[in-house]
Amino acid sequence: NLHDLFAIARHRASHHVAIETRSPGLPGHRLSYEELFAQADRLAAGLQRWGLGKGDRVAFYVGSRPELVIAYLAVIRLGAIVVPMNLRYRRLEIGHILSDCRPRLLITERDYLPILEEVPPSQRTSLEATLLLEDFPGWSAPVDSLDAPTVEGDDLALIMYTSGTTGRSKGAMLSHNNVMATVTGLLSAWGWQAEDRLLLCLPLFHVHGLIVGLHCALAAGATILLHAHFDAAAVLDDLLHANPTLFFAVPTIYVRLLQEMERHPDPLDFSHMRLFCSGSAPLPPEVFVAFQDRTGHAILERYGMTETGMNLSNPYAGPRRPGTVGTPLPGVSIRIVDANLQDVAPGQEGELLVRGSNVFQGYWQDPEKTAASFCQDAQGREWFRTGDLARQDPDHGYVTLLGRRHELIISGGFNIYPREIEELLTTYPGLAEAAVVGEPHPEWGEVPVAYIVCTGEINEAELVAFCKGQLAGYKVPRRFYRVSTLPRNAMGKLQKHLLPRAD
Ligand code: ATP
Ligand code: MG
Repeated sequence: NLHDLFAIARHRASHHVAIETRSPGLPGHRLSYEELFAQADRLAAGLQRWGLGKGDRVAFYVGSRPELVIAYLAVIRLGAIVVPMNLRYRRLEIGHILSDCRPRLLITERDYLPILEEVPPSQRTSLEATLLLEDFPGWSAPVDSLDAPTVEGDDLALIMYTSGTTGRSKGAMLSHNNVMATVTGLLSAWGWQAEDRLLLCLPLFHVHGLIVGLHCALAAGATILLHAHFDAAAVLDDLLHANPTLFFAVPTIYVRLLQEMERHPDPLDFSHMRLFCSGSAPLPPEVFVAFQDRTGHAILERYGMTETGMNLSNPYAGPRRPGTVGTPLPGVSIRIVDANLQDVAPGQEGELLVRGSNVFQGYWQDPEKTAASFCQDAQGREWFRTGDLARQDPDHGYVTLLGRRHELIISGGFNIYPREIEELLTTYPGLAEAAVVGEPHPEWGEVPVAYIVCTGEINEAELVAFCKGQLAGYKVPRRFYRVSTLPRNAMGKLQKHLLPRAD
């Protein structure tokens, strides 16, 4: 189980710094591996005394702080299940999660109580107690009173709600084995070591920050430089001066870091860094190029999802190809299939299927949705349907993601991938962001239209002419809607279902 995995690092690196908090304006607070696990064991003993046991759910509504890690380790030690909640969630979303997975315990901070109290009482009837981080000492008990149960690889560690990019978020059940498959795959693929220093500013309620970041670092016995949130100036300062070796982020963070670097006319020294990584959303190739020009580092792009942990990664030893997410991680198998779930010819487009110990156990109490997200091959093996469209280059196996299956636009029988048009539009001067969706059309079924965020004057006729020069006519957006911002979630992903509907 995960506790055993971390225990290896704990014993190897007991005096090593596990977490150093680096929030702007506050002094860095350091916790060694020994201190971290000792506090977690005492909290586990206290939670066990309270009655927490195997299979109980514990909801987390906590910022990125060391206490979150202490509570996480304590809960999984008891075989209970952690349910992280997005800190941007309010009444409706929190109510959905609490009534869906019915946790016995909620762990939070005093400052967040007013938000939680707005959730209708009928949706939080399962909660028997609320534990504030500030009260951990009072809840802890002597370590020798802890009688840790046997936790097996198949037991659930997490119910992680998906990002809700395409609609209501779903509770993905991840076992200890699922999480360990992703962690061990990444440890070997990216060569994690105890000497590594991970600058972590991603939220810990999402698979990216929690599993790719926190879990890998703890399993490696590495040091985490923890930022409570992303602040471009503070993160750039630490990237330059706190001697990190690893940095994981989403594309919008790289865009903002590049803007922040414009304030520094001098050459910047990133020679201590060994890996900049991007995931969760497509990294525009022009951002990859701009970042490489400015820092000398080729960002490694990778692809994963809540349901599967990590699937694909550009190779650590290179070459890293912009616009692709690389090849399968150790232990992960993939296929690309057509609408009838038959393998496409090499190099052709289709839905990406994934198989491996990383793949989740199903959606919490939703057997129908679970069944619909798997399919069987001729040998009766189960494959997870990612819902993402992809193409694999026949020579080297690099995978290019084309967008989500449900967002594919079919116009007069032609497939249109919104991502291709969005990436072209954002290269147009004065056009900062674009979202392309299909609009019903009497003759063609659907036609593409674009929502655009402009930072300069744009002449629409010239923009159309630009598109016509680079794209097939049926891909040129029929209409452009100017908006001031595009709806994005906490990971910077476009939430197309929230775009204002045109009438
Ligand atoms: P929901 O399932 O609730 O609609 P979501 O799919 O965004 O939300 P996550 O599990 O956080 O929830 O995200 C996984 C998805 O993110 C993938 O299916 C894929 O569409 C997208 N994604 C992840 N990494 C990349 C990447 N490198 N490039 C493009 N898309 C990516
Ligand atoms: Mg999804």
